[in-house]
Amino acid sequence: MDDARETDDLGLGVTAPRRRVSYVLPVYNEEQNIAVFHAALVEATDARPDLDFEFVYVDDGSRDDSLARLLKLRGDDDRVSVLSFSRNFGHQVAVTAGLDAVGDADAVVVMDTDLQDPPRVSLEMLQMWEGGVDVVFAQRRSRKDSPFKRATAFGFYWVLDRMADIEIPRNVGDFRLMDRKVVAEVSRYREQDRFLRGIVAHVGFRQEALLFDRDPRYAGETGYPLRKMIKFAASGIVGFSTAPLRWISRLGFAISAFSVLLALYVLGVRIFRPEESVPGWAFLGVGMFLLSGLQLIMMGVIGTYLGRVYAEAQDRPLYSLALTARGARDDTR
Ligand code: UDP
Ligand code: MG
Repeated sequence: MDDARETDDLGLGVTAPRRRVSYVLPVYNEEQNIAVFHAALVEATDARPDLDFEFVYVDDGSRDDSLARLLKLRGDDDRVSVLSFSRNFGHQVAVTAGLDAVGDADAVVVMDTDLQDPPRVSLEMLQMWEGGVDVVFAQRRSRKDSPFKRATAFGFYWVLDRMADIEIPRNVGDFRLMDRKVVAEVSRYREQDRFLRGIVAHVGFRQEALLFDRDPRYAGETGYPLRKMIKFAASGIVGFSTAPLRWISRLGFAISAFSVLLALYVLGVRIFRPEESVPGWAFLGVGMFLLSGLQLIMMGVIGTYLGRVYAEAQDRPLYSLALTARGARDDTR
């Protein structure tokens, strides 16, 4: 396949006569879903014989029969690849491993394997990609989750919206298509605590939403119980916002300001109503608020440095290039 590729005139990119699309499919205890899911995926992708498909399943340390079923799929369909983790590393890491494994696919689709993300929707994503969109993220028009899950998701996105430094689209999971250049950039983000939808938003390029109706899980149980959901929500907020650190000093300033008001009150009483004695708590009150306010301001200062250390530790790429068109002279070098 690679031999058929040719460089375009400007040498700016590579055009392939036959484009390759890889699916990254995380699996955790989905033994009842795998066969049905794969059949649906094959049925959908069969509508595009002009594209070369590859299906990368990542078994995230399943405890059920998932791995054996995946290996069987691989025996029946030579477009299937299987990776299997030594233990459960979590959905976000499973997707990352899949992205690392797709090699030089022209586009990658990430989707769940419990049939909540309908495979046919990925065909619409492919069309948008062919129309020049670099990231097509599936946005839930409706979801058939429990009211509890809906309410917690709503609360999470509300908070994230207010706190995150970048705009992370609402009601968007990890079901998305990414062009190869986006995948290459996402792979440069190696932070441990991964919030992929935030990373993809951070990378930039042309990103558009595709509305879809999310189906209920076909069989089995969610691999995201409340405990994992809270941890995941926290990593989204902490990973993309240093707002909590900034709040410390704001609170410090507010408390200090209050101590100043209190001091003015005490002073006012002394000057304008000398006959009234200042209550004994006044001095203590002023001192207490002033000191704790100052302490919070100082913690905020430490927080500011900590935020910088954190950003350095995350070691994210400074920027992502969408194009480099050097001067013609430069070519001779
Ligand atoms: N998943 C995974 N590792 C986990 C949990 C889930 O790879 O630790 C996979 C799971 O098999 C599914 C996708 O991630 O394909 C989404 O998980 P799930 O359906 O359990 O989450 P929900 O849709 O309930 O948010
Ligand atoms: Mg699901």
